[in-house]
Amino acid sequence: MSAYVVGLTGGIGSGKSRVGELFVERGAALVDTDAIAHDLTGPGGAAMPALLAEFGPQVADARGALDRAAMRRQAFADPTRRQRLEAILHPLIGQEADRCCRAAAAPYVILAVPLLVESGGYRKRCQRILVVDCPEALQIARVMARNELDEKAVRAIMAAQATRAERLAVADDVIANDGDFSALAAQVDALHRRYLRLLAETPKANY
Ligand code: ADP
Repeated sequence: MSAYVVGLTGGIGSGKSRVGELFVERGAALVDTDAIAHDLTGPGGAAMPALLAEFGPQVADARGALDRAAMRRQAFADPTRRQRLEAILHPLIGQEADRCCRAAAAPYVILAVPLLVESGGYRKRCQRILVVDCPEALQIARVMARNELDEKAVRAIMAAQATRAERLAVADDVIANDGDFSALAAQVDALHRRYLRLLAETPKANY
């Protein structure tokens, strides 16, 4: 079974999560690779045996979940550790994302991938790429408010992501999230109608 998949991406704080929720309210299925990564590394998560075998029992907390803060610190300090972590997690996330896309009981799937532009594998799975775009100053203000980070910390995260221009260069569709929530919802309405139309016009053999 195949699914019509719209890849959703955008820089941190651009509004991806909110946009994903708006599509779900309109009847799309949402597959979110961040949520999948969270489940895989939660208590009893499918990635935990491999992570424990690779890094030892100290990477798990008392509940048997990955101690994310400790792992992040180690991965940041040691790039080979980070590569080993990614070598375990990325294939599992990709497989689970595929499974969820195929299992989705909805006309189409919104596949939310924060680093979609940076990762060729996910781009290939998508029939279209939707980028949520907003000025950097707004991104920074939103993340500072949401995560209680200072500007320097937000800029450091942004520096590790694709640039605004790189994202826009691969976008089939763009949501400009520089207005209020009703302006955002109106754009999602228009795109939802567009996706239903495109889906009806696309032979199933092509996706
Ligand atoms: P992302 O998932 O891309 O990191 P979010 O959807 O979590 O971004 O949005 C970041 C923050 O900005 C959230 O707190 C969200 O409620 C807020 N936000 C998003 N879009 C708008 C908007 N148009 N107006 C006001 N706040 C917004």
